Amino acid sequence: MKRLLLAIALSLTTTLAHGGQAAIEGVRSWAGPDHTRVVFDLSSPVEHRLFTLQEPARVVVDIRDAQLSDASTGALTEGGILNNVRSAPRNGDDLRVVFDLARKVDPKSFIVPPNEEYGHRLVVDLEKPRDKSQPVKTAPDKAGELVIAIDAGHGGEDPGAIGPRGTHEKDIVLEVARKLEGIIDKRDDMRALLIRDGDYYLGLHERRRKAHQAGADMFVSLHADAFRDNQVRGSSVFVLSADGASSEMAQILAENENASDRIAGVSLADREKDVRSVLVDLSRRATIESSAGLARSVLGELGDTGRVHSENVERAGFAVLKSLDMPSVLVELAFISNPVEERRLRTDDYQWQLARAIRRGVADFAKDRMSTLKIASGQAHREYTVERGDTLSGIARRHRVSVARLREINELQGSTIRVGRTLRIP
Ligand SMILES: [Zn+2]
Repeated sequence: MKRLLLAIALSLTTTLAHGGQAAIEGVRSWAGPDHTRVVFDLSSPVEHRLFTLQEPARVVVDIRDAQLSDASTGALTEGGILNNVRSAPRNGDDLRVVFDLARKVDPKSFIVPPNEEYGHRLVVDLEKPRDKSQPVKTAPDKAGELVIAIDAGHGGEDPGAIGPRGTHEKDIVLEVARKLEGIIDKRDDMRALLIRDGDYYLGLHERRRKAHQAGADMFVSLHADAFRDNQVRGSSVFVLSADGASSEMAQILAENENASDRIAGVSLADREKDVRSVLVDLSRRATIESSAGLARSVLGELGDTGRVHSENVERAGFAVLKSLDMPSVLVELAFISNPVEERRLRTDDYQWQLARAIRRGVADFAKDRMSTLKIASGQAHREYTVERGDTLSGIARRHRVSVARLREINELQGSTIRVGRTLRIP
């Protein structure tokens, strides 16, 4: 994506906000493939109203009793759907902000309370409308090809951990994710799916949704660790635990990683979806066990590239791993808070080593598990027992396969099928 920076076209005023008036102290934007996020930093919470206008497409945000502070210069990322942002005072004390857009969007806005990183914020998400007429995308994988979802943690507003030299976790993990994508795609039996491919934030729920939608067979979330003691080092691999963390360190790390949505600002609606999905999770011990197998395989390979923090697979309640019905792991690539490891993490060479180690771990795990995985994810030979009233075309339609394929795989002639016969479904 083009990363040109546009000077923001807000007309700056030099008067100070009067007592009680909220000041907008900064503005940032992040462009992802499906949405652009604009964040206003506020001196205090505001009331606002949002509406859209068409031809040309615009989103208007009226903010009550607010003013731009003269320090509120910002930069907008070009690319995405945002062409320009304008503003003008309105009704005396209010402020109107107009987003000029390249096309129609579904806008969403919400106020985010202060956290460790930022103060009060007004977040405006400009989302590409979801085409409801479009059928759910099924994985276009070749026969027997495994889809590996690679999730680069953090992004956009949320830098993740920051090393002593100012290295951002979000940048390192994206580099490793892209390298891993490259070497996975070179194999015939696997295809990579990059969950995040740029500097923008995706909610933890959204990351899992993307993997599901693409019919992923495995989910690998990439992170780099941080700890208050800057001598702590080594990579580790985590799986979801339904019963709490396996160590105090694991607990602290899970809390840090789970804070992502809070730091980047995720709407309440998205968080509620998460709460619901947690309830589904608790029955997924089988997935947790297969995840542990994948984790051991990846951890073993990482051990060959350098020190591992723990010889064992760790367990904790990582939100991004919840309700995934595929083997899912979270890899902490060394400690970015350790000056020596931070330096290594910045090098291309070490990033390649890490990517190769993860690829080997994934491939080793997949080798034995290939057929089982395909059955578990419902993508390969399922079975169906013919019942009275069934027709071949009906069965084919329900299972989204062609009649010809169904005939072929079951060596059927003609169009009559016997009740009680078990058919293989491709
Ligand atoms: Zn992280």
